[in-house]
Amino acid sequence: MPDKKIVRNALRCLTCDTVIESKHRHDFVQCNCPSDSTTNIFVDGGLDYVRYGYGVDALVEILTEYAYVENE
Ligand SMILES: [Zn+2]
Repeated sequence: MPDKKIVRNALRCLTCDTVIESKHRHDFVQCNCPSDSTTNIFVDGGLDYVRYGYGVDALVEILTEYAYVENE
């Protein structure tokens, strides 16, 4: 059973056309939409875990990439 490893933790907000990328565990990144708007998106967790969320009207492209590594 190969391990699933995060190689990129990123999203694109299609409302403000911004790519946001979390580079490390406590790197909480938001797009340029106001944080209280319903189109705001965020990503967190870096390469340790993928956590993201967005408002009800958000348009999001998921850019997160995974690699599969065989266990020895
Ligand atoms: Zn945005």
